[in-house]
Amino acid sequence: LAIEDLLDRLEAAYGRSRPYSRFEPMEELISCIMSQSSTDSTSFPAFTRLREAFPDWNDMERAGVEGILEHVRPSGLGPSKSKAIIGSLRMIRQRSGTHSLDFLREMGDLEARDWLSQLPGVGLKTASIVLCFAYGRPLIPVDTHVHRTSIRLGLIPPKASPTKAADLLLGSDAARHAFRFHTLLIQHGRLTCSARSPSCSACPVAELCPSSPTGIPPEPPTSRGGTKRGQASKP
Ligand code: SF4
Repeated sequence: LAIEDLLDRLEAAYGRSRPYSRFEPMEELISCIMSQSSTDSTSFPAFTRLREAFPDWNDMERAGVEGILEHVRPSGLGPSKSKAIIGSLRMIRQRSGTHSLDFLREMGDLEARDWLSQLPGVGLKTASIVLCFAYGRPLIPVDTHVHRTSIRLGLIPPKASPTKAADLLLGSDAARHAFRFHTLLIQHGRLTCSARSPSCSACPVAELCPSSPTGIPPEPPTSRGGTKRGQASKP
């Protein structure tokens, strides 16, 4: 499957994805923590109000969990997200002497992802979002839509976990287009290739999809009877 062809077709159907990050790296990180288990329409206004109350990261850290809770609470899971935000601010300041993530520029992709993943409340997906969106690194954040559609399109094996999927995609052609790939597959998963009832008959990439009734046929089973990459499960 040619990734560029896939992305071109998705872009023709859903429009061009925005070509830049909305936030600088620290804002990307904290807004991403606030967006967990929330919608953008809920978490972004809450993040904006938090930043208006604490435009200086030092002041935010000094305010502590109790001090930021009322601003974080509207995004849901207020106490745990507040703890994660204050804990992350502290660890970053202790690591770099300031509230800046620019030291990540000196690290390799996986080293930077591992460092961010150690922060409280930050998992593989959040770390990848920061590195992909704010630094243009070839790390593809794998959410439920990217995971499902990648499997159906035969880009990763059917049983690959989200963590395994992130590593497989990092080593694939998709990584060269990480931001585009991530945003377009989310659009595709939301609008067409839904979890329960994918609209294969109206799909802009059906011709390329081994899971489509009209798509390219899957590769035959191996002689050991296992499955091969490219043999996606039926939706
Ligand atoms: S053909 Fe169906 S399963 Fe394949 S990507 Fe399109 S909607 Fe998803």
